Amino acid sequence: MVHERASAVIPFRRTCKQVAALLIAREDRALALQHRLALRLHLMACEACPRFERQVLTMRSSLQAWRNYMAKGEDDEQTAKLRR
Ligand SMILES: [Zn+2]
Repeated sequence: MVHERASAVIPFRRTCKQVAALLIAREDRALALQHRLALRLHLMACEACPRFERQVLTMRSSLQAWRNYMAKGEDDEQTAKLRR
């Protein structure tokens, strides 16, 4: 009962673990408004999670670069086959 009351007073309260899960989920799908708000509020109050967010964003751009590189590699392979 105490727990329920506490979560009602602070509806957007999330633990760092939940925030980490949201940051990762955000890479795959759009988050519901309440999750986006909770995320923003937590990132303003927390020291560790913004650091983790940067890591996720870095990972995303590295992945994108890797995908581009692989796509380019496939193109080169196709071109090489045509030349044979
Ligand atoms: Zn946190």
